[in-house]
Amino acid sequence: MDYPSRFDVIVIGGGHAGTEACLAAARMGMKTLLLTHNVETLGQMSCNPAIGGIGKSHLVKEIDALGGAMAEATDRAGIQFRVLNARKGPAVRATRAQADRVLYKAAIRHTLENQPNLWIFQQAADDLIVRNDQVEGVVTQMGLKFFASSVVLTAGTFLGGKIHIGLDNYSGGRAGDPPAIALANRLRELPLRVERLKTGTPPRIDARSVNFSELEQQWGDDPRPVMSYLGDRSHHPEQRCCWITYTNTQTHDIIRGGLDRSPMYSGVIEGVGPRYCPSIEDKIHRFADKDKHQVFIEPEGLSTHELYPNGISTSLPFDVQLNLVRSINGFENAHIIRPGYAIEYDFFNPQDLRYSFETKAINGLFFAGQINGTTGYEEAGIQGLLAGTNAALRAQNKPAWCPGREEAYLGVLVDDLISLGTQEPYRMFTSRAEYRLLLREDNADLRLTEKGRELGLVNDARWAAFNIKREAIALEAQRLKETWVQAASAEAKTLETKIGSPLTREYNLHDLLKRPELRYEDLPKPASAPVAPDVSEQVEIAIKYAGYIDRQQEDIDRLRANEAMLLPEDLDYQSVDGLSNEVKQKLAEAKPQTLARAARVPGVTPAAVSLLMIFLKKRG
Ligand code: FAD
Repeated sequence: MDYPSRFDVIVIGGGHAGTEACLAAARMGMKTLLLTHNVETLGQMSCNPAIGGIGKSHLVKEIDALGGAMAEATDRAGIQFRVLNARKGPAVRATRAQADRVLYKAAIRHTLENQPNLWIFQQAADDLIVRNDQVEGVVTQMGLKFFASSVVLTAGTFLGGKIHIGLDNYSGGRAGDPPAIALANRLRELPLRVERLKTGTPPRIDARSVNFSELEQQWGDDPRPVMSYLGDRSHHPEQRCCWITYTNTQTHDIIRGGLDRSPMYSGVIEGVGPRYCPSIEDKIHRFADKDKHQVFIEPEGLSTHELYPNGISTSLPFDVQLNLVRSINGFENAHIIRPGYAIEYDFFNPQDLRYSFETKAINGLFFAGQINGTTGYEEAGIQGLLAGTNAALRAQNKPAWCPGREEAYLGVLVDDLISLGTQEPYRMFTSRAEYRLLLREDNADLRLTEKGRELGLVNDARWAAFNIKREAIALEAQRLKETWVQAASAEAKTLETKIGSPLTREYNLHDLLKRPELRYEDLPKPASAPVAPDVSEQVEIAIKYAGYIDRQQEDIDRLRANEAMLLPEDLDYQSVDGLSNEVKQKLAEAKPQTLARAARVPGVTPAAVSLLMIFLKKRG
């Protein structure tokens, strides 16, 4: 049969992880196949129609800095943009966009269909071809064989997926989509530790049945932020309003009354759900003293009446869902278009992965996304990008790229998953990053685009725009150092009104900007072209936070020294003097590859790290 069957990289699954994975491999010049259940669901948002948010936008910007699709698709699909934590420090500021589902999918599909080196094929992958612990290819539902020495699996919630509404349940990958049963069974034959997790989604509501008159409105920001470093507001579609309402004591009584028919509370669901995106029944149970919970009402898109009520995810029986929804202010006559549900699915213990996301047991087989125990589109997307990149590197016999915790939120995510594993769906927060002043959403390009270019992930247009920006930052930083304000000059007088005291000598603009009373916009502007806001932002942050940034840099230098101290895989921790039995056992289980990673194993104290360091130095 004259159909291409041999590829460099095969990616299974066209969700958020899979699309970034196949795009990355194809950008790197690899002949890549994306095999997915349904071409119509490429880039589908299974749950809330939003991208970004705290911790998550950092990941989206990193994807963008490495040439990925998510941020640009968001700029084409976003119907409301906001900066969260705008009044807090730059480390925790985050961009969030409400997206039109249909436009988002269209943008992702457009990118996929126009990516050179990428073939798309609609078929379920039912089997993996594995020989001598090396993956060799994939067999589809209709028996077609595709061959590649690198295969990236991104099956999301589909492996052994089981959907629950009340005490009823049925097999499904998500509502309306089939589960991946054959592949799940095949994977269970391989030496990989598999467990179950669950997640849930709220009922969707018809806007025509909602009384908005009493609801709080929430509009996006003005000026409107963009998600991509190449983002352009003129690409944004029409913008929409969201609303806020609340549950109440009646809602909570209805939920409590239905718990005996809740699959979670009756023990039907075994998998653990996301702590930070809990179901409404979980919230009522865990925060029993609260008499209301916020519900954000988010439009699903421009061309639909469907609304997403963010905050009332539930798997209670439909009659309870209807009553609880109608007890909420504004929803008294609400019509539910789709019921809420929970889904249980297989995930694989991420501790069985290498830092490249290749499985330790099967060479060439990479895992990314929800199947690694994470939750969220952004977490999935960035993992896909890493797995796709490393699958491409492996196909070329090149060493893997494994960014560290000090380089990227991606590094934090990978290290958390692999060194600690996860017992519940893992999502990103800024608090997970110890060097968060360096890992900001505003500087992901400065941290990663050069590396992306070296890897072949970043195209000429992005690289050119990046270099212009980088140069402009250097020039503006230099101008601030070289531009002086004389005491008693007109410029000094203007600045003194902000500072509140006279300038008694001459100062350069760099030193003036260190003062807490002054912002970049208060300083005299260059006579030449105006400085772009993303350039002045970098200059301002670097000057204002120089002390903290330098301190974090020193910590990173120390970490790098510890990262360079390798711990042999067969190290006998029993023979390390002074370690407690508990620490010995934890280290023997975790098998950290470096001293820095050993320090992050829970329960391993700084004293234990010192003992290990002495031991390693003695061993030579
Ligand atoms: P998915 O987006 O699930 O994509 C998997 C893709 O693989 C699909 O296209 C599927 O068709 C394809 N596929 C699977 N198996 C095969 C096969 N054998 N052959 C071919 N193709 C295959 N995230 C949050 O952050 N917060 C939430 O509250 C939240 N709630 C959720 C509720 C529900 C009900 C669901 C289903 C998901 C929820 N999520 C939530 C999770 C979010 O949707 C995922 O984290 C994200 O979509 C994961 O991306 P992924 O690429 O790993 O997988």
